[in-house]
Amino acid sequence: MKDLFPPAPVSAVPVADGSARFPVHRIYCVGRNYAEHAREMGADPDREPPFFFCKPADAVVPVPAGQTPQLPYPLQTENFHHEIELVVAIGKAGHNIAVERALDHVCGYAVGLDMTRRDLQAKIREANVSWEVSKAFDRSAPIAPLHLVAQCGHPSKAGIWLQVNGKDRQRSNIDQLTWSVPETIAHLSHFFELQPGDLIFTGTPSGVGAVVRGDIIEGGIDGLGMLRVEIV
Ligand code: MN
Repeated sequence: MKDLFPPAPVSAVPVADGSARFPVHRIYCVGRNYAEHAREMGADPDREPPFFFCKPADAVVPVPAGQTPQLPYPLQTENFHHEIELVVAIGKAGHNIAVERALDHVCGYAVGLDMTRRDLQAKIREANVSWEVSKAFDRSAPIAPLHLVAQCGHPSKAGIWLQVNGKDRQRSNIDQLTWSVPETIAHLSHFFELQPGDLIFTGTPSGVGAVVRGDIIEGGIDGLGMLRVEIV
């Protein structure tokens, strides 16, 4: 049967070596996965089970190496925040995955930004309603090229940083994750059937803050390159 209109194009993240692209199925995000960030958000930094939220696949903004795409300041916010994150790319389907087998499902890693309308998030938290408008808006998931496991292995200790206009905002190490990558995958796979094409944003370290039009955000993870965007 004929489509009523052409289907939306598939979101994709280019692989760093230029050999292929990673077509995106779903975007899962972990909330408060670094103790210092949990504290700055006024939450208990104890090791409570991880919690998850989603962004639509078309929230992805591929950020090619060496380029600085423009990111429009979104509607309905006056407190637009950066969150630098390690992003895990799933290459193999599975559910109820054991921690010991979790890394078998990973095909690569990337640097990503979980852009957030913090003022809406604060209101949402107070009203105890859904997070979507604060997290799942258009272009809320800029992401650098994907590094395949064959090239980068499974990083468990690596510096993660973010600067705005050349000044440090966030600086930590992925070994500070409250829930490690294998533990996060195992937890998530008890709620959802993971599929090739799923991306998991693993949470941000402390130092989140606002950006305004004209700001340049740069962020990276040792061994996984960096990204650079301009807020317009
Ligand atoms: Mn986040």
